[in-house]
Amino acid sequence: MNILFLDQSGQLGGAELSLADVAMPYRETCLVGLLADGPFRHLLEQQHIPVQVLATQPIPVRKDSHFLHSLGSFGSLVPLVARVTKIARNYDIIYANTQKALVVGAIASYLSRIPLVYHLRDILSTEHFSPTNCRLAITLANHFASLVITNSRATQAAFIKAGGCSEITEVVYNGFKPERYWTQESNINAIKQQLGLNGQFVVGHFSRLSPWKGQHILLEALAHCPHDVAAIFVGDALFGEQDYVEQLHKQVAELGLEQRVQFLGFRSDVVPLMAACDLIVHTSIAPEPFGRVIVEAMLCDRPVIATATGGVLELVEPGKTGWLVPPGNALEVANVITICRQNWESTRAIANQAQLQACERFNLATTNQQIAQLLKLYCKTD
Ligand code: UDP
Repeated sequence: MNILFLDQSGQLGGAELSLADVAMPYRETCLVGLLADGPFRHLLEQQHIPVQVLATQPIPVRKDSHFLHSLGSFGSLVPLVARVTKIARNYDIIYANTQKALVVGAIASYLSRIPLVYHLRDILSTEHFSPTNCRLAITLANHFASLVITNSRATQAAFIKAGGCSEITEVVYNGFKPERYWTQESNINAIKQQLGLNGQFVVGHFSRLSPWKGQHILLEALAHCPHDVAAIFVGDALFGEQDYVEQLHKQVAELGLEQRVQFLGFRSDVVPLMAACDLIVHTSIAPEPFGRVIVEAMLCDRPVIATATGGVLELVEPGKTGWLVPPGNALEVANVITICRQNWESTRAIANQAQLQACERFNLATTNQQIAQLLKLYCKTD
């Protein structure tokens, strides 16, 4: 099956990392078309997945744009859509992985008569998008997509609640290769040494820096934890949230946490960094569509405390495979960190159980098999 994958971003966000795994089995015949250049292109090239940057200028549709703004940006899409339509004629399926890719993919699908699949990795609600952009995505998906794959039941429910057609949706969880998440003890020790983490109880937060990811909640929680609890923040502001980064640094200074907090920026060695932590905390204050970092922490055999919202409720069984806290509640985060630490034996048992379950439930081989079957079923190409 020849697939033209489309993604709006050149950055290494969760949607892009997931797409690389989905595209891998098709690398002999597929093309990943990007609407922006960046490190994602390098990653695909390293993995020998054909990639081309298709846009010559950034697409101006923003998450918060209004109706007129969206219409205004339509004109600048014309050359891009023409290019994608021409390329699409050499493929069996157009596979849009993000919202802007959906806009371009839907028009190209209409013009080329090539079936469109939308892999929805966002909660389409006004907590994340403007009403205009939600409506636009729903309308395009309903009218042009043969299939909408959602990365959780929460993502599917939000799509349907916003007016999306339920008959074309199928839930497929993100998949992972468990063996990618094994780390040798010597690597863990080396990282702890490099970062000066020995003798501390280390809590890790792995997410791009963005207000809705809630890094400020963990900082606030830290101020309520004993002094030997330290935190590492792994991730950068990928989509221009520089004000928030400054706010976080200010908060560290105000709370006097300079000796206990490290911001490591974007890292490609997430696995040994997770393994160097005692506990992983996830603090998103808006519904998380899936939350790759939660499953990754489980696969690294690290206990996870996560926010009880969105797709996270499908990943964590409280008391069995992790802990859930209400969104935005720093005191509860501090409380659960303390409980986990005090009951270390049962905390470790929960982490072990989570690892076993994650290997089974979120296996990349299964994910890719499900996607292949759905593509055959919904997009008859002969
Ligand atoms: N990640 C990374 N380096 C970093 C921070 C995060 O490679 O410095 C990865 C992380 O391991 C995960 C992805 O980025 O695979 C984030 O996905 P998630 O679903 O948690 O959040 P999203 O970015 O999609 O909102």
